Amino acid sequence: MTARWLVPEREGLRVAPAGAWVDPAQPAPLALITHGHADHARGGHGQVFATAETLAIMALRFGHPAARAVPVAYGETVTLPGGVRATFHPAGHVLGSAQILLEHAGERVVVTGDFKRRPDPTCPPFVPVPCDVLITEATFGLPVFRHPPIGGEIARLLAARGAGRCVLVGAYALGKAQRVIAELRRAGYHEPVWLHGALERMCRLYAELGVDLGDVRLVAGVPKGALEGAIVLSPPSALNDRWSRRLPDPVTAMASGWMRVRQRARQRNVDLPLVISDHADWDELTATIAEVNPGETWITHGAEEALLRWCELTQRKARALALVGYDDEDD
Ligand SMILES: [Zn+2]
Ligand SMILES: [Zn+2]
Repeated sequence: MTARWLVPEREGLRVAPAGAWVDPAQPAPLALITHGHADHARGGHGQVFATAETLAIMALRFGHPAARAVPVAYGETVTLPGGVRATFHPAGHVLGSAQILLEHAGERVVVTGDFKRRPDPTCPPFVPVPCDVLITEATFGLPVFRHPPIGGEIARLLAARGAGRCVLVGAYALGKAQRVIAELRRAGYHEPVWLHGALERMCRLYAELGVDLGDVRLVAGVPKGALEGAIVLSPPSALNDRWSRRLPDPVTAMASGWMRVRQRARQRNVDLPLVISDHADWDELTATIAEVNPGETWITHGAEEALLRWCELTQRKARALALVGYDDEDD
């Protein structure tokens, strides 16, 4: 078997010779963190290696990211105990997101963390890294998931604006909200974008870290009339709660890869499902495995069976890892 030194445990991937973990679900003495989403980055670790952006996101969420936080730049290699080398490469998922290349005993293993291949104005693009083992996520690992080009979804959002009402878009606080705003700007929309209070701090951090979101303002305290014709962003949990009553006749939208599934849109009472995802879709997953062309593919974090079957059909060695603790904060 390849890469025996990397052990899939229920709590995450254990890098045995280094006494380290990648994205551990439990507090660990030494943790390598791919990105800031809650299912990957947790508080309470001893020492953390992550990009400076991910450390800033963790600091915002947990007060301080770890007892000892070591920033690692893209392309930079750090040497861990046991002589294991770790290099961080862009994953194109959210600001600061990284794939982690681990090198030990003459073998190269890449842990993608969450990733996508579509351009995203809020973070640098995914870089294919040659390796013996590719550990890929599979959140949207079913052929039914094919994300449409984002330009069309943004155009549908802009077209939903109307006199006397606003469009309320549910978007996750880390990554999705900022990407929707940046894509609106790219489409030439420069009106203020209005925010639920729960999105404010992360948007401000993105701006501080150099991602220009233009004019963003808080909804709190603003009269209803001022929001007519406006675009308002909230966390998905606020779409149907009392908070939205302060808005003028909102058209309810949601930006998520799961909006491909009609039932999910209905569950959330969404009028305007926007299929906008920060994860690779089926075509991106299979194209990435083909492009990187690793000796083995380990599949985790989502719909593993279909991708495993695709690997078999295309004569690629593959296995599914049963890691727990991952959910879809970040779809
Ligand atoms: Zn994830
Ligand atoms: Zn994520």
